[in-house]
Amino acid sequence: MKRAGFCENCDDMRPFALKRVPVEEHIRGKTYRFYITKAICLECGNEVSLPGLLDMNTREIDFQYRKEEGIISISEIRKLMKLYHMGKSTLSLALGFGEITVTRYLDGQVPSQAYSKIMYEALSSAAFMREKLKANREAVGESAYKKALKAIHELDDSFTHLPSTLMDVISFIFQNETDITPLMLQKLLYYANGIHDALLGRPLFTSRCEAWIHGPVYRDVYDVFKNFKFNLIDDERSALLLNSKVNLTPEDRNLISNILNSFGMYSGKMLEYMTHQEDPWRKAREGYGPDEYSQVEITEESIKQYFLHIPEYFDMDKVEGMRAYITRMLK
Ligand SMILES: [Zn+2]
Repeated sequence: MKRAGFCENCDDMRPFALKRVPVEEHIRGKTYRFYITKAICLECGNEVSLPGLLDMNTREIDFQYRKEEGIISISEIRKLMKLYHMGKSTLSLALGFGEITVTRYLDGQVPSQAYSKIMYEALSSAAFMREKLKANREAVGESAYKKALKAIHELDDSFTHLPSTLMDVISFIFQNETDITPLMLQKLLYYANGIHDALLGRPLFTSRCEAWIHGPVYRDVYDVFKNFKFNLIDDERSALLLNSKVNLTPEDRNLISNILNSFGMYSGKMLEYMTHQEDPWRKAREGYGPDEYSQVEITEESIKQYFLHIPEYFDMDKVEGMRAYITRMLK
């Protein structure tokens, strides 16, 4: 059954369609173009009033305004609190704001650009948050200070011990791809590293790669995300990846983008299937049954040799070549 709403023009319940429409708003002397959702009567074309739509559009405008002005959103502030195990007044004081500043932001007051910048910085770097916390230790108070510092140490233990280039590659993937599972991430890293090594003569990052049941796995990356199992990686730590500054050359960015636009179009399971057809994983798994646990290393050399061979048949420095390779492997 089609959804219906009350149309004043028809003076009755009518089926409607939802449409995104642009609206102009003037805020502090500046004109903005926002997009809101309207319900349109399918019979007469007039606007149908729907309960909840006004609230939704108010939130949409707030979200779009903040985005345009570089102002942090309420949900991002909440992520900040979760990430560093801080309550609202602790976070406020740790950042050097007044005690109730963050409370006011959570109640809807729009932060300034300068304060947004500080909060975004904290959302992009645990090291920055640690510096701020230390500088404001006295204001924060000893027990809240210790609790927050412990959270930062735990983040350090999970993320920051990864080699910095590997962190950059992971952040780049998170900033350019949605719906990432640990399985998918592992396979994207594997293809990016192997193809980089073959095309440019050096791996993108250095990390031990092992031949597990579900394909090649970088153990240190596995450890960071293992609690997600086969689910999407979507906790507050991904906020840190989404906001961190990425240090990669244009050449490397281009190669990873090509990987995302080819291999990235497939599910983790499909990519796992592909790696099961390829020599590096197969050879490392020799003597092991399909469901047998193994930690055997897939050497960088064996990966490089394999991907060095592919360019004889496929133009792997272009996204078209990668797609042709995938089509061939999935046949
Ligand atoms: Zn109507």
